[in-house]
Amino acid sequence: MAEARPLAACPGGGSWSVEGIVPPAGPGCARWPEELRLLNLASGELVRGRCRATNLCGYCARVAAVETCEVLWLDACEQGSPGLWLLLTTAEPVWDGERWKRSMEHVTRAVRRRWSGFEYASLVEFTTGYGPRSGGLRRPHLNVFVRGVPVEDADELHEVVADVWCPRMDAASEQQRVYRVREDRGGMRGLTRYLSLHFQKESQAPPIGWRGQRFRATRGYFLRSRAELRCEARRALRLRRLIRELGDADLAELRATAAEGEAWALRWVNPSTVGELRPAVRNA
Ligand SMILES: [Zn+2]
Repeated sequence: MAEARPLAACPGGGSWSVEGIVPPAGPGCARWPEELRLLNLASGELVRGRCRATNLCGYCARVAAVETCEVLWLDACEQGSPGLWLLLTTAEPVWDGERWKRSMEHVTRAVRRRWSGFEYASLVEFTTGYGPRSGGLRRPHLNVFVRGVPVEDADELHEVVADVWCPRMDAASEQQRVYRVREDRGGMRGLTRYLSLHFQKESQAPPIGWRGQRFRATRGYFLRSRAELRCEARRALRLRRLIRELGDADLAELRATAAEGEAWALRWVNPSTVGELRPAVRNA
């Protein structure tokens, strides 16, 4: 909850978390064309952009996944951690997005018949395919964060969910799990930090070219719009990256605030000479 999280005032309203999810490290987006740079019209700085194709680019997929974890984190700071989370699996390595979606709709209807306030946010992950019984196949699974179901009803929730999910998804009841989001382990903050590290492992990301939606949430899961939360999450991650670069939180905040109003334009460059420029790899 918010008491453990230092906040910095945000000039645009809202707040930036100084503590939180670690921004993804790495060499940046490999799909950004060598002959294109983004020009900062105020400073003249040229930087690489990123392709934002989350299903084709490992780096951009990690950035999007980390933003999602930050959204969940910010939401948990605002309204507290969800009480329970579900791990839903399938024996089938084939991703059929329509089937997954329909099965979750059936689960939602069944759970709402019992707990009318049920809301969820879900994230897709893939197994590595390294396990001894995996046959080398990577199987998708869902992490589902649950609001509106009392934690003491965890066993009953398992029963309701497994009855609907398992016959539709070729899944075994005992493989479906319901966990408490334990506040003594940092609650949702601890869980999202763990997930964000998980998501940064290429081995558990969806295979490149996978077509699916990695994150879904019912309308009532968040207090604010997802667009607003995602915007705030991006600012928080940007600020944290600057703190790491500059080693000073106040300076980082000043730099982040100044950057909010900067204008950028796309420029062609000669790849053979662009290396002489400042080798900044930034996500503009
Ligand atoms: Zn990319």
